[in-house]
Amino acid sequence: MPATNAKKLLVIDGALGTQMIDRGLRMGDCPDLWNLDHPDKLQEIHKNYIEAGAQVITANTFGANPIKLSDYGLQDRAEELNRAAIDIAKSVCPAGVLVAADMGPTGKFLPPVGEGSLEEFAESFEIQAEIIKKAGVDLILIETMYDLREALVCLKAAKKTGIPVYVSMTLDRKKRGFFTIMGDEATVCMKTLEENGADAAGANCTLDSAGFVELTPLLKKSLTSVPLIVQPNAGQPVIVEGRAIYEETPEHFERNMKLIIEAGADIIGSCCGSNPEFTRVNAKLAAGRS
Ligand SMILES: [Zn+2]
Repeated sequence: MPATNAKKLLVIDGALGTQMIDRGLRMGDCPDLWNLDHPDKLQEIHKNYIEAGAQVITANTFGANPIKLSDYGLQDRAEELNRAAIDIAKSVCPAGVLVAADMGPTGKFLPPVGEGSLEEFAESFEIQAEIIKKAGVDLILIETMYDLREALVCLKAAKKTGIPVYVSMTLDRKKRGFFTIMGDEATVCMKTLEENGADAAGANCTLDSAGFVELTPLLKKSLTSVPLIVQPNAGQPVIVEGRAIYEETPEHFERNMKLIIEAGADIIGSCCGSNPEFTRVNAKLAAGRS
């Protein structure tokens, strides 16, 4: 099928957590401690994604904000953990491939669901963003945000670094459309992120590629000038012996990613359950357009 336009796509790597679980990360372990304990395994994961064609690799900093780290009593070690992750990614990154620092949610909820406060969230993200700035990366990828208010304070903190910031929400299909679990509507999320200075906006996780075939046109029409990020899960998880198994094949993913690209995705990756074979699909589809 001919490309509908000649624009270039940017290919982001796939899941980090799934790859770490395959290499021994257990439920309840702190994934960020791997930056100190298993740098070799993280290097291997990054190398595999680069070899598969990723143009952006994501450092293992998703949970390395002080509030999230406090779940493991590691809130005072944010500097060491973020720096180690970024150093690991840089150590295997060839010229021409970008290193992204990942910023994920605090894991706490704002009222009325929880008792978190925007002030404490802002402080936590500012600490992490400042460390990321000092360590030096090509871009900041804010991912899997389930509350637009939290995404906005994270975006604000990240933007203070002067580094480009991409923001990706996690959205699910409801009767009336696509929403975060906190009830933020998809098109409102995109418009608000763009208005607040995100350098790219979009969605990751929760939905599989078929879900993103439906969601992508909606997100695309909400953005006026910034690129759209799309990172589907590799299917819906099936729990087998206490482990989440994702059953989507790279072939099935490829059929849907073609539709997602035609619908306007500019930056493509994959989320939970994915592996370098999914990145290889994205790289092949991107190469077919250049
Ligand atoms: Zn995910």
